[in-house]
Amino acid sequence: MSRSVIPEQLKSPKIQVPPHPQWPILTGAELHAAKTRIKKLLTSRDAVLVAHYYTDPDLQELAEESGGCVADSLEMARFGSVQKAKTLVVCGVRFMGETAKILNPEKRVLMPDLNATCSLDEGCPADEFAHFCDQHPDHTVVVYANTSAEVKARSDWVVTSGIALPIVTYLAGKGEKVLWAPDKHLGSYVQKLTGVDMLLWQGSCVVHEEFKAVALERIRKLHPDAAVLVHPESPEAVIGQADVVGSTTALIQAVQNMENKTFIVATDGGIFHKMKQLAPDKLLIEAPTAGEGATCQSCAHCPWMGMNALQNLEQVLLNGENEIIIDPEIREKAVLPIQRMLDFASNHQRDKKNNRAT
Ligand code: SF4
Repeated sequence: MSRSVIPEQLKSPKIQVPPHPQWPILTGAELHAAKTRIKKLLTSRDAVLVAHYYTDPDLQELAEESGGCVADSLEMARFGSVQKAKTLVVCGVRFMGETAKILNPEKRVLMPDLNATCSLDEGCPADEFAHFCDQHPDHTVVVYANTSAEVKARSDWVVTSGIALPIVTYLAGKGEKVLWAPDKHLGSYVQKLTGVDMLLWQGSCVVHEEFKAVALERIRKLHPDAAVLVHPESPEAVIGQADVVGSTTALIQAVQNMENKTFIVATDGGIFHKMKQLAPDKLLIEAPTAGEGATCQSCAHCPWMGMNALQNLEQVLLNGENEIIIDPEIREKAVLPIQRMLDFASNHQRDKKNNRAT
């Protein structure tokens, strides 16, 4: 049975959502010149670019063209760990840079903007989270990757949206009770599917929270043959209308592999770049964020992801600023639950392959 706990500070959220950064629009020639300069800098600094699917398309292209990667947070963590380069430049949000540093303490990890955070991370302060954990010592602490290094250090398991379900299912098999943080929607989705006794922290993603169920029903009626793809950070009434619920990678694969010609997509709009690249013949429609209850933040694009651009990427490569630094004691504790997840994920993938082969 799921029990929801609303920590005091989350009853009146104090998270400050910044305005969307406005970057100058580059001409074709300027874009080409900027990419050429950055590629040279990456080589001369022995650096590799690791970008998230929600970042600007120019950054995603540059990451791939320069031998880096564009991925979800699980794959970003894996990719960074097997690189020979001495510097990782993480285009994404701060917890992704921190995870890269935790897994690669010998490498320098830079980010275009250290203020690029996440409402889930901001909504789960380490001291209050530690207090919450102390009150429930009989629970296994499972935290989403979208948390600070300090919160990870207090956990037993770190999960991404791609591996949350198999890990909690595994814990359920061992009869464990779970304390989950910070995303309440992903937490209750996992709880519903596994039936595990879970205590849920009440954080949410400011982007996915804005998808509107009633408006989605209307759009589905206009496109009855469309498949609805939903990231599980979305509200339950939106998840309830999905044909596929999954991580960014799972949603991209769905567009590639499903026979539908039209898809309604409920996740950050940055993902459309990769979807269009891999399935150019499919029609992609943004799930609605406007309508009843919409706020001025309703645009399906993360303002913190938007803080990454070619301009500040070039600057950090030039001046070496914006390095992620983590207290070694915190790092030592945080690496254990992350590594536990990575080991679990590779065993899980191997088992799935073996099952398909037999
Ligand atoms: S899209 Fe949501 S979960 Fe992802 S970084 Fe932005 S605020 Fe965090």
